[in-house]
Amino acid sequence: RPSLQISGLTGSGDDGWSLFYRARAMKAAGQPVLELTIGEHDIGTDQAILDEMHRAATAGHTGYAMVPGIPSLRRAVAERMSAATGHPYDIENILITPGGQAGLFAAHHAACDPGDRALLIDPYYATYPGTIRAVGAIPVPVATRPEAGFQPEEAALTAAAPGAKSLLINSPNNPTGAVYGMETLRGIARVAEAHDLWVISDEVYDSQVWEGRHVPFAALPGMADRTLTVGSLSKSHAMTGSRLGWIAAPAEVIERLITLATHTTYGVPGYIQEAGLFALTRGPEAEAAVAAPFLRRRQMVLERLDRQQVLSAVPPSGAMYVMLDVRRTGLSGAAFADALLDECRVAVMPGESFGTAAAGHVRVALTLPDDRFAEALDRLFQFATARA
Ligand code: PLP
Repeated sequence: RPSLQISGLTGSGDDGWSLFYRARAMKAAGQPVLELTIGEHDIGTDQAILDEMHRAATAGHTGYAMVPGIPSLRRAVAERMSAATGHPYDIENILITPGGQAGLFAAHHAACDPGDRALLIDPYYATYPGTIRAVGAIPVPVATRPEAGFQPEEAALTAAAPGAKSLLINSPNNPTGAVYGMETLRGIARVAEAHDLWVISDEVYDSQVWEGRHVPFAALPGMADRTLTVGSLSKSHAMTGSRLGWIAAPAEVIERLITLATHTTYGVPGYIQEAGLFALTRGPEAEAAVAAPFLRRRQMVLERLDRQQVLSAVPPSGAMYVMLDVRRTGLSGAAFADALLDECRVAVMPGESFGTAAAGHVRVALTLPDDRFAEALDRLFQFATARA
């Protein structure tokens, strides 16, 4: 038989999932693993949203939905983008996608031809290189530094930009928690302009900001025309399993992406979109309520960091993680995560899964109820102290 053609999805090394699956297998075997791995809330989707999903399904929204998304949801996203950026978005600027991940794939499909160089900021969300390779493009990581708060630096971007086609940015950032400041954003805009790059701006954590404020990249003067903004209800409304997101972009980009969606996903279920519309119209208070536990748990980590010398972190300004520097234990991030799982039954993600610039770190997701989170932190800090 012919060989299996998944070249775009190989060669990314261990993207961290092996530890995740090992932790899940241990849990399934009855071991009391405290899991701080993937970015998923410890609460489920709000009951009122589920009620709306049920209402919409029983009201008949169970057939094929329109491929670009239902007009009412596209309009609601357009209004949200217009308000956030000050740039006019209309329904033809919005494609509804099955989650942000599908949006990232589609955005790179639109921006890059096979063989094109696609820049991304290191540390990065673990799926990014594979997503870029899946469209045949070449991922080119641009390193950031803890001393610079993991903000992308103009000089590093400028050095990597010649010949590149796109630049993927992510603020608030997974895994570092960096929220890009105005100077960072202006620097990115200058590089994008100078090298004629598409900017793919992953803003799925826009409702989780603890310090500073989130500025959508498309709000920068002149940038909306070259920006593909990826959004999602997964993180903001605890709707990870509903697979509902969007791309906001110039109309000619969306037109192409509707063709892509017609030949791939064929849209998102109508009852999910109706529930998403309901979720969006509940306003920022509902999003703040979903985000609040993460701020509390972030504080729990920072307080423990203050009381010892072995672990350190750049305090995250946003998102639902803290990235801990474990280098003073003498272990790599991967070795730390492996040993912590085996010896203490606490699962965290190895920093190496998120790029070279995250080596020697582990990412802690703020995703257990406070009492169990405290227990996990106690085990983690004791483990680290004993190793130093
Ligand atoms: N982008 C970032 C930075 C993420 O961390 C995630 C999920 O963890 C996603 C995109 C994808 O989210 P979803 O596909 O659930 O919208």
